[in-house]
Amino acid sequence: MTRIAAIEPIPIAYPDPNDFGTTRRTVLVRVETSDGIVGWGECIAMWPEACRAVATIISDGFFPILQNHPSDAIDEAWQKMRRHAFWYGEGGIASMAISGIDMALWDIRGKAGNKPLYQLFGGLRHERLPANASSHVNKQGEAACVAEVVGFFEAGFRSCKLGFAKKGDSTIGGDPDTDVHFIKSLRQALGSDAGILVDIGNGVRWDVDTAISVANRMAEYNIGWYEEPLYPTDDAGYQKLAAQARVRLASGEREFTEAGYRRQMEFVQAIEVYGVDPARVEGITGFRKVDALATKHGKVVNAHAWSTAITTAASLHLSLASPNTEIFEFKPFDVVVQNGLVAERIWHKDGWAYPLHGPGLGIEVQEDVVRRLAE
Ligand SMILES: [Mg+2]
Repeated sequence: MTRIAAIEPIPIAYPDPNDFGTTRRTVLVRVETSDGIVGWGECIAMWPEACRAVATIISDGFFPILQNHPSDAIDEAWQKMRRHAFWYGEGGIASMAISGIDMALWDIRGKAGNKPLYQLFGGLRHERLPANASSHVNKQGEAACVAEVVGFFEAGFRSCKLGFAKKGDSTIGGDPDTDVHFIKSLRQALGSDAGILVDIGNGVRWDVDTAISVANRMAEYNIGWYEEPLYPTDDAGYQKLAAQARVRLASGEREFTEAGYRRQMEFVQAIEVYGVDPARVEGITGFRKVDALATKHGKVVNAHAWSTAITTAASLHLSLASPNTEIFEFKPFDVVVQNGLVAERIWHKDGWAYPLHGPGLGIEVQEDVVRRLAE
């Protein structure tokens, strides 16, 4: 029987042109089996101290309980990790640590059986998904911000998701008139068919009435969804927003567990589109539990894949095998963790995201690049 022989967490750092050249961080996980199969996963901890904590949990907490565990008994490994972390992590850092190991074990399962992951998830529910450019609005002046998004569509993308109030030179993100005017200008520049998804995000501090007002002003320009205008745990705020806004609401990327999504879907009942990140939500196993909940409740799932090609690959397999997805997100600007980290860049063709057919995650991680980016 093939067993887990080694688990190595590898914190990395890289400059990201998609985030105004900021140094971003994450933790990769390399799992090796007793017969030499290597699987890769990711824990999207981002902050340096959180990356160190995730790496410690994996090395000092999870590896001792998973060493010699059968590599194909993924569900048991997942349960073992959750039980181990029960006191310090229903969600949070522990969930991210679980994510990376779980993802790597799925990669190993696919490689051992010579099957791409989407086949292990029951096969393709979409032959392809529209490619979405997920970007941060960070140029100086509205005209430059509009021109940048127009460029994404000229490059083939079929929709855009725009993060407001990010790092950079833009004032878009916070002042309602400025933000609504930007969406109006964008709609005029892009025409009526282009998908425009608005991600208000953590940098904006609006009260509920402002969020409602902006939602309904943007609704006139036919936005596809309106993401996280309020703090994610403001249940009453989201309920009021859902009752009064004429746009679909998106949230969820800051949940960690199936229980958190269940609470949203069954008790808060305000969100239609759920962001789910396999590098955060207790891995591929956790993502599939959330996806099943979304099927049960008729909700949309959107894979959050704004990190390395390892998470992008996992998100792509999961998205194409899910009945609940509409689009697939790409970072529009070239970045080493997408282009250099794997032998072949995961990229759209004519504005569509297609399946990866190689075994497991379907990527060839370049270990020399991993070692060069390691902190
Ligand atoms: Mg978001």
